[in-house]
Amino acid sequence: MTVSEVSAVSTDPGLCTPLAVLGRDVRVPLVTGGEVTYAALDYAASAPALQRVWDDVAAYAPYYGSVHRGAGYLSQLSTDLFEQSRAAVADFLGCRPDDQVIFTRSTTDSLNLLAAALPAGTRVFVFETEHHASLLPWQRADGAEVTCLSAPRTPEQAVAALDVALHGAPKGPKLVCVTGASNVTGEVWPVRELAAAAHRHGARIVLDAAQLAPHHPVDVAALDVDWVAFSGHKLYAPFGSGVLAGRADWLREAEPYLAGGGATRTVTRAGDGGLDVEWHTTAARHEAGSPNVIGAYAVASACRALTEAGFDRLVAREQALLTRLRDGLADIPEVRLLSLFSGDAPRVGVLSFTVAGWNSSHFAAALSAEYGIGVRDGLFCAHPLLRTLLGAPSAGPGECGAPDAAPGEPSLNALRVSFGAGTPEEHITRFLAATRTLVRDGAAWSYRNENGRCVPSPR
Ligand code: PMP
Repeated sequence: MTVSEVSAVSTDPGLCTPLAVLGRDVRVPLVTGGEVTYAALDYAASAPALQRVWDDVAAYAPYYGSVHRGAGYLSQLSTDLFEQSRAAVADFLGCRPDDQVIFTRSTTDSLNLLAAALPAGTRVFVFETEHHASLLPWQRADGAEVTCLSAPRTPEQAVAALDVALHGAPKGPKLVCVTGASNVTGEVWPVRELAAAAHRHGARIVLDAAQLAPHHPVDVAALDVDWVAFSGHKLYAPFGSGVLAGRADWLREAEPYLAGGGATRTVTRAGDGGLDVEWHTTAARHEAGSPNVIGAYAVASACRALTEAGFDRLVAREQALLTRLRDGLADIPEVRLLSLFSGDAPRVGVLSFTVAGWNSSHFAAALSAEYGIGVRDGLFCAHPLLRTLLGAPSAGPGECGAPDAAPGEPSLNALRVSFGAGTPEEHITRFLAATRTLVRDGAAWSYRNENGRCVPSPR
């Protein structure tokens, strides 16, 4: 088998929507008896693998070999496949010719890598609305100074607030970190405008595309962002890889993220008895150790699958489902949708809400146990944003499964529904019907707190 044959292996990407994903026929037991097909509505946490990605990985797996460190045929093939995967990701992201694509473990890993690569004294600007993965790495960056901007209530306010903050900043390296689409509200941020504001003031900008990339084409050059980060497991490729792509200069000059084999060009004994190390200046500088070629190939396969399926068609379909979902929830007076921006702000298929009189953990547990529907409850690793949206002190993890909030009182945490290219319309229909029934009739079972999780009792 040759590399081009591996690349060509795929099932039909499924131009008829939804795209085929693993687990689409999995049946789960209900606590009330019987079983149903599982409705996965937690894509924002981790999306199911595309069947196409699984098939590509399975076709390659027998040919698996070491990358950048073997003379054998399979090592050569695997090395070529790894580098071709890098090129496919660059293509998918619309990278500039001299951008670097670094394979990491996840978005969290990518942003920590960039944080470790900041020039000394970099001033970092973030909004408090960020996911912790894009809020926290900068606090640990050596010598960096972090400015945390308050939650804006409109996209225009976000741009204006950044403009003011950057205008008042002293000279020196500056970085803005912004999420493309919120993992809580699904709202799309004005990335192009924020990038323009950053560049007007000589700052760089990194886009956290963990939630944007699976739902919407991301074009690094057109958005004019300096870096972009995303995770394979949210892009239908759950094989342990993520991506940091963008400007090479800061990355080339930074200390390697990990010290070890693969990142070095030469290592020699120094005259003083120590070691002289010459590090690579390419992406390999930050990819020490044996690369996860299956993970990288899976990400590239997902990129190809989304492109070939026609991303615009996927977006249109997702928007139609989102409208159904939002309209359906708007008809339930007890449901309060959480949003920062106004109702007509552009969004992806991610939506959070509370239900009056319900603790969100209880509601999520009932959706799972009684209806076979998987959603998420909690604070979604975005505590400052949730506090702003809920307008109440948030529950800690130990309070999952706490008694219902009294009617009219703010809920202590929230529920999140998220979906994507593999979601059939029937899942949205089922979710809305289950939510209406739960609100009207209450849970059919009883629940208790077990190690911080709300579980059926008896199970
Ligand atoms: N940023 C956003 C907006 C996210 O939603 C997430 C995951 N929920 C992350 C970053 C972190 O992604 P990962 O856990 O794959 O590192």
